[in-house]
Amino acid sequence: MEQTFIMIKPDGVQRGLVGEIISRFEKKGFYLKGLKMVSVERSFAEKHYADLSARPFFAGLVEYIISGPVVAMVWEGKNVVVTGRKIIGATNPADSAPGTIRGDYAIMIGRNVIHGSDSIESARKETALWFPEGVSEWQSNLHPWIYE
Ligand code: UDP
Ligand code: MG
Repeated sequence: MEQTFIMIKPDGVQRGLVGEIISRFEKKGFYLKGLKMVSVERSFAEKHYADLSARPFFAGLVEYIISGPVVAMVWEGKNVVVTGRKIIGATNPADSAPGTIRGDYAIMIGRNVIHGSDSIESARKETALWFPEGVSEWQSNLHPWIYE
């Protein structure tokens, strides 16, 4: 089944939003397959956001991501990449709908609480980067109650 990489950014950790964010993905019916708290090096943050290295906000973005521990996760489920992005909301919290994580908990684009992979391909790349040790392969017994 499809997997996505989700990261609670340092502001989300500092603001005590970890439980709330995990809860939203859990309650939706997605399965948590990987989870760890980690403080990343500058070079690692630059690698994660390599596609954005030419953008004017890149330096500030890297500073933000290394400013404290983050919570890295892998979630699994049908269409979890696209649906995960919907749960997260638009990049700029000013445009994120209420009910989304960024819509409910953020104001500034540079403090938008959470990252989610934007495609299956980037989910694969990001999961390999953040979880080189691999993720858990447990299967939920609730599966028939979530999927028809
Ligand atoms: N970002 C920023 N200023 C911008 C655009 C993006 O600070 O003008 C930050 C923001 O934290 C965003 C991250 O860079 O989440 C990555 O940007 P991307 O376009 O990939 O947005 P996302 O996929 O996170 O919605
Ligand atoms: Mg992105």
